[in-house]
Amino acid sequence: MRLVFASNNAHKLDEVRAIMPSGIEVLCLREIGFEQEIEENGATLEENSRIKAETVWEYVKGTMDIDGVFADDTGLEIDALDGRPGVHTARWYLDNGHGTMDNGHGTKDLSEKEIFAANRAKALRELAGKTNRGAQFKTVVTLILKKSEDRFQHSDLQVKGVVRGQIATEERGQGGFGYDPLFIPEGYEHTFAELPIEVKNSISHRARAMEALVQTLHEIA
Ligand code: IMP
Repeated sequence: MRLVFASNNAHKLDEVRAIMPSGIEVLCLREIGFEQEIEENGATLEENSRIKAETVWEYVKGTMDIDGVFADDTGLEIDALDGRPGVHTARWYLDNGHGTMDNGHGTKDLSEKEIFAANRAKALRELAGKTNRGAQFKTVVTLILKKSEDRFQHSDLQVKGVVRGQIATEERGQGGFGYDPLFIPEGYEHTFAELPIEVKNSISHRARAMEALVQTLHEIA
């Protein structure tokens, strides 16, 4: 089975490829020549995950030898902040607290690494002095599968994966990406960035969503 992963995030792609069983070939957007910017303007992780999968499906359907497309949208939900940043996780540092995502500094000049660092700094600022540091990562995966008898028809579904944990009081570790240096998964004393990637890939939100995806593929195959 050949599936396209609707993401340009190299970290996510590495994780997904490490988690997927060998019978499922995962192609990334670059490998299918997809170069558009996908606007994630949904109000929920579910909507954004669907927007990404459907946009890429429209690009590939009927033209390529692939069986389907899947997309992941992930949010960090912090208990003491009523679930924020949630759908705004990717660019949380732009959140000015007035319901819009523009703190006047823009995003153009920042590298991915700098955006990750600015987001983590925001998390530490928002939680300064707070004792309740509970949080969870949630991943929503949308799968669009070609109907075998008609290359233009499809069926779709969503699965989720959640991992509970705590936000550390300072950054720890060099591995992973995004908020990993701040996230201590339940049952562990180290952050995702300190733990070996094999551990993250066995318990993470993304791993759990991918397990649910693979289970579903087995059931419907
Ligand atoms: P999206 O699913 O591409 O919208 O990702 C949202 C943001 O969540 C990313 O830009 C990262 O900052 C963060 N993120 C997603 N997955 C992870 C993860 O596994 N560890 C840490 N941060 C993550």
